[in-house]
Amino acid sequence: MFIIDKDFPGGNIIVDEIGEDFVKIRQDLSFTREWWFYWCFRIRNVRGKKIKFYFTDGNVFGSMGVCFSRNRKKWKWLGRENINKKENSFSYKFSDFINTAYFSFCIPYVEYDLKKFLKKFPKVERRILTISENRREVEHLILKSGKSKFKVLLTARHHACETMANFLLEGIINFWFDKNIDSKFLQKYIDFHIIPFIDKDGVEEGRQGKNSIPHDHNRDYTESPIYSSTRALIKEISKWNKKFILSIDFHCPYIDEEKIYIVEPPFKVKEVRIFSQILEETNKSKLKFSIKDNLPFGKGWNNKEEGEDKSCSYYIAKNFPTKFSCSIEFPYSKCGKEIINEKNSREFGYYIGKSISKYIQQI
Ligand SMILES: [Zn+2]
Repeated sequence: MFIIDKDFPGGNIIVDEIGEDFVKIRQDLSFTREWWFYWCFRIRNVRGKKIKFYFTDGNVFGSMGVCFSRNRKKWKWLGRENINKKENSFSYKFSDFINTAYFSFCIPYVEYDLKKFLKKFPKVERRILTISENRREVEHLILKSGKSKFKVLLTARHHACETMANFLLEGIINFWFDKNIDSKFLQKYIDFHIIPFIDKDGVEEGRQGKNSIPHDHNRDYTESPIYSSTRALIKEISKWNKKFILSIDFHCPYIDEEKIYIVEPPFKVKEVRIFSQILEETNKSKLKFSIKDNLPFGKGWNNKEEGEDKSCSYYIAKNFPTKFSCSIEFPYSKCGKEIINEKNSREFGYYIGKSISKYIQQI
């Protein structure tokens, strides 16, 4: 008989029923106030079998369907055509060479992946921002410039399931250490402070992260934050004073959104738009970005009623002497017609790095 489990970092699944050649499963919504769509599981003893997977709690498939891996190192999208929409199901025929496999809503990214990536960058300073509620180290990476004239803050995983944000951060680190003139400007003057996993417990434990009980990490920027990482981050950036030049918080949008866009807080919007224009012109990756897609404050879900005024980017824009602070939403699997993967996500991240350099050079 085959076995399904979630006992690895980022794993998330509940098994309702197992048959000879099918299984009924659903995403684990513990710790979450509202329905969400993240899941990620392992299946073993599948050699040569064909198995049908039924999801019993809503449509949990994004624009490119299911993500598949044999070893959690390389992932591939199986495509929307693989999904039976009516049944919320998909089938998979395992070859005789596969006995263990992983399936996921999106390309996972956990501490293991970060450590592997950082092996290429021994010069990245590794600090610990704080210890999480479940006793994990919350990483604080520093790319230290020669003169430390200004500091840039980059954050991800305020919502634990929004994995693609970390591939952007990898691309930004690639850019910072590159050899071109805009990278060299950063190396000379600009420190980058990166918090890759704000909700570290959520990332490792495979939680949705979005709409956590009682509120999620990106609704914790209040007078009395409840999470150790947000408290520690506020304390850290409070020491930066006028060196703190800008911050970007990386997110992934709703399940099947297919464009990259900047979420504007109501403060310092003019500068957000100057940066957006630079990003639009600088971006040479295959993934399109247009300033026209920016989401102004007060439009769509970006408003006080949805709690955006308690978000990281809003809080920083309001309370710190930065030029600007904003969020970037980066989709899980498709941007226009392009299919998103690790490589083109890093490429887009690379051009975010370049745009930050160009922005600071023009102020
Ligand atoms: Zn988010």
